[in-house]
Amino acid sequence: MLEISGLHKSFGSTRVLGGVDLSVRRGGVTCVIGPSGSGKSTLLRCVNHLEKVDAGRVEVDGELIGYRESGGRLHELGDRAVARQRAQIGMVFQDFNLFGHLTVLQNLVEAPIGVLGLSRKDAEDRARDKLRRVGLAERENAYPRQLSGGQQQRIAIARALAMEPKLLLFDEPTSALDPELVGEVLAVLRDLAAAGHTMLVVTHEIGFAREAADEVVFLDGGEVLESGPPGQLLDRPREARTREFLEHVL
Ligand code: ATP
Ligand code: MG
Repeated sequence: MLEISGLHKSFGSTRVLGGVDLSVRRGGVTCVIGPSGSGKSTLLRCVNHLEKVDAGRVEVDGELIGYRESGGRLHELGDRAVARQRAQIGMVFQDFNLFGHLTVLQNLVEAPIGVLGLSRKDAEDRARDKLRRVGLAERENAYPRQLSGGQQQRIAIARALAMEPKLLLFDEPTSALDPELVGEVLAVLRDLAAAGHTMLVVTHEIGFAREAADEVVFLDGGEVLESGPPGQLLDRPREARTREFLEHVL
């Protein structure tokens, strides 16, 4: 479903990703863990072409992201084509990124109307369905500032779902939350995983990775140091660096 191969990315002379290979099968959940600065956010941003890669490729459902290939060469896609691809890839950030001047319902219908061309009625029906999904059906007229951080993050997830994307990307979705609000967001993520969504999740929640992931990837210094099923990678890591990191976060 998601195939990342040979991904390289530098900012100036700083090498951030040094040849990352990673895949997520359809309906699968891959969790990415790793120290601060190891390139986790950059990796997610490369998947939806928010960052232009220096080398390597990203394919979603067999479609090359950000480029078209002709005569064995890659040509960068135009803004409209990239926007069409991004519509298939939902992204949820650490700090929610809701539109503060819009109500919850308005936050959820904007892209389905503007990007997918849904009618307002269809977009609202869909939005209400997604709000039920995250347990916030009764808050459609609230403004983001009237909600707790956990509720805002659940709205951000519902907003991503409202586009019915093929792939969901999460960048540390619980790390900006007070500890007592983390559980409600992880419960939504578990529910999405169980419902068969294809997900790539950057997280420090090792308990969540253990339960929900079918694969865990340890990113270190812009490279996949090791990867494997959670029971292996989290409990019997092969690499000393992985062990050291896990002792630090647990
Ligand atoms: P964290 O756990 O702190 O979120 P991370 O693993 O997500 O870290 P990235 O945000 O991907 O790490 O950053 C990796 C490296 O790339 C860091 O050294 C960072 O300073 C650098 N970097 C990221 N974005 C840019 C940018 N736009 N310009 C220059 N350097 C950048
Ligand atoms: Mg990050």
